[in-house]
Amino acid sequence: MRKSKKPQSLLRNNFNFPAFRGLPDEPENEIDLRYYDDGPFGFEPSQHWCFLGEIVDTIGLVRVLLRVKDKDGEVITIGLYTGDRGQALAPHIKIGHTVAVLYGEQHGFLDMSVGIRVEVASNIKIIPCSLEQLLKASDDVASLRKGKPRRCGSCGKDENASDNTHLRLCSRCRHTSYCGEDCQKKAWVEGHKVDCKALVGVQWFTAKNWRTFHDWFSF
Ligand SMILES: [Zn+2]
Ligand SMILES: [Zn+2]
Repeated sequence: MRKSKKPQSLLRNNFNFPAFRGLPDEPENEIDLRYYDDGPFGFEPSQHWCFLGEIVDTIGLVRVLLRVKDKDGEVITIGLYTGDRGQALAPHIKIGHTVAVLYGEQHGFLDMSVGIRVEVASNIKIIPCSLEQLLKASDDVASLRKGKPRRCGSCGKDENASDNTHLRLCSRCRHTSYCGEDCQKKAWVEGHKVDCKALVGVQWFTAKNWRTFHDWFSF
């Protein structure tokens, strides 16, 4: 059941998780002071950021080139300019799945399309669920953190019920809990199978502090 008021959710924050037009410009133009601080060792990021987009097409022949749709619905290109031209990533590419790119910048490609040029292989990863599912998982994690009593993810019975309901966590996502095996099996076929992958995918993000920069994150 969705509450009318949306919980504050990490991946919906457009500062650490901007759409393409919110990304900094490439530094050869001008340093974007929303993202960088001028420190004793030169410019350093002032916080972390990650672009998220859903794969709508894959167009590369010589190297991996993806067309992805960002949070605002804009379709841009992600080009793999890594040593292996994206070959390690290739088996994970699937239309409808989500691409995450750390520290991406707005780039104009030679063919006049715009997008992100990825040069560090550990800055990109594919998460096996849609962008919408990933954002929903982020909401789910945020609402659990508010300390509401846990409920069975299928029948809704809560852990404080008078019959001493004992809820146990899904062993994969360790997020959703169930009052028993029947409820767990029912929920799995009715949709947790998909939600579970999104919840596992989102945990890498929700376990980190995106507000302060100490060292670069990598996937
Ligand atoms: Zn139940
Ligand atoms: Zn699960």
